[in-house]
Amino acid sequence: MPGEPQEDCLFCKIAAGQVPATIVRETETTLAFQDINPQAPVHILVIPKAHYANAGELAAGAPELAADVLRETEAVAKEQKLDAHRTVFNTGAGAGQTVFHAHAHVLGGRGLEWPPG
Ligand code: 5GP
Ligand code: ZN
Repeated sequence: MPGEPQEDCLFCKIAAGQVPATIVRETETTLAFQDINPQAPVHILVIPKAHYANAGELAAGAPELAADVLRETEAVAKEQKLDAHRTVFNTGAGAGQTVFHAHAHVLGGRGLEWPPG
């Protein structure tokens, strides 16, 4: 069921405190933590605590929660004092999604080429 915790989901476990993570921000509905394999000097993941498989399912199933996540990406960028940043939602294995619990990558602290590779 969308929104319900999934037993085999890594980010549900991080949200529940069952797997450790370096948490940088937390709200009632969201969690922001350091990516374990950073691709930029700042690489923070923002997740809804509730389980949705990707950004599209989150937006369709819980639009207010999707807005919470977006708001938090901007709060992270501000807190990290980034003068520019990129927020990325990978959707589908072909786009590099490896964890099927919606998450935004907030990247910054270096030049970010566009279009990306
Ligand atoms: P995706 O590839 O699904 O868009 O992003 C998943 C992200 O989760 C990757 O950037 C990966 O480095 C990160 N990641 C994978 N396992 C862990 C973990 O156990 N802890 C943390 N903090 N990040 C993880
Ligand atoms: Zn999950």
